[in-house]
Amino acid sequence: MITPETSKSNPSIQSQPQPVRSALAWELKKPVYTVIAPLHNEQDGLAELYRRVKLVMDSTGETWELVLVNDGSTDDSPRLMAELHERDDRVRGISLSRNYGFQVAVTAGLDHAQGDAVILIDADLQDPPEVIPEMIAQWRAGHDVVYGVRGEREGETWFKKASASLFYRLIHRITNVNIPVDTGDFRLMDRRVVEAIRAMPERNRFLRGMVSWVGFSQVGVTYTRSPRFAGTTKFTLRKMVRFGLDAVTGFSYFPLQLASFLGFLFASISALAALVVIGLRLFGSNAPLLGQATTLVAVLFLGGIQLICLGIIGEYLGRVYDEVKARPLYLIDRTWGISTPKGA
Ligand code: UDP
Ligand code: MG
Repeated sequence: MITPETSKSNPSIQSQPQPVRSALAWELKKPVYTVIAPLHNEQDGLAELYRRVKLVMDSTGETWELVLVNDGSTDDSPRLMAELHERDDRVRGISLSRNYGFQVAVTAGLDHAQGDAVILIDADLQDPPEVIPEMIAQWRAGHDVVYGVRGEREGETWFKKASASLFYRLIHRITNVNIPVDTGDFRLMDRRVVEAIRAMPERNRFLRGMVSWVGFSQVGVTYTRSPRFAGTTKFTLRKMVRFGLDAVTGFSYFPLQLASFLGFLFASISALAALVVIGLRLFGSNAPLLGQATTLVAVLFLGGIQLICLGIIGEYLGRVYDEVKARPLYLIDRTWGISTPKGA
């Protein structure tokens, strides 16, 4: 319905070509490379991250941008981001409304990256930026994804190394996609891979799996993972378990199949046991075969198995519920150097 208000706002409609012009300017300024670094309380390493990324990216002789994603930091990181943007407008920043976790922070970065090739890197400098030129060379050679393979890991506990190694091997075994062993999120992705990832709306995101799922030409570059530059790991055991569950449920039905497998196994065992009992009754002694304790243990054991299977179904169901709710993946609090922030 046309009201006097809308006709009054006509002049602003006439000035609409403006966004098109700025879109063109944006297009012209588009850098070749985007480096995305998600960060959660990384104030002590930020300046060093910028220094090293700048050094490496300048050496490529091409245009680049560094997109910092503040994932609900409670320290000085946002102020430092503003300062870096002030100093060098190739540094752009997004502050999420709270801590959403690494996977979502990276997604926010991908949504705002403009480069033809996008590089994901940890803000704690565990992934040395100096490896990026090697990745770029592989990209130039025609590969769409160049992932970092962790050769050696310096300064990590044996527990972390052992659990990570076990995790990658397990995932490799039971998922439908081939996620390369010993890779992290340090990787370069071609624009078409980034667009494919952005088109995947899932709430529980396991990016490494999603990147593998996309396919195209993927190749690894081996590097030595350094110790953290400053601060401590932001991944608690709880976050790691959740991450593992997301990985397994997102890419495999194996746990669900396990439930049917256990069902068949115990049904077969009980059928065999029934035959044995009948045989013993017919041809053997009349004495009761087993005592109360055995019965109790068997009942509790099967009860336990059933609850575990229910729990497995619950893990999938909860994730289905997350998808159905279809909430935005993240909310943005504020940005630096980003003209059109995407909502989700
Ligand atoms: N990180 C994040 N949100 C989180 C947890 C971590 O953005 O909820 C960032 C963190 O600041 C770092 C990167 O993700 O830049 C990797 O995290 P971290 O170094 O703690 O993990 P680790 O290297 O120990 O696996
Ligand atoms: Mg780290």
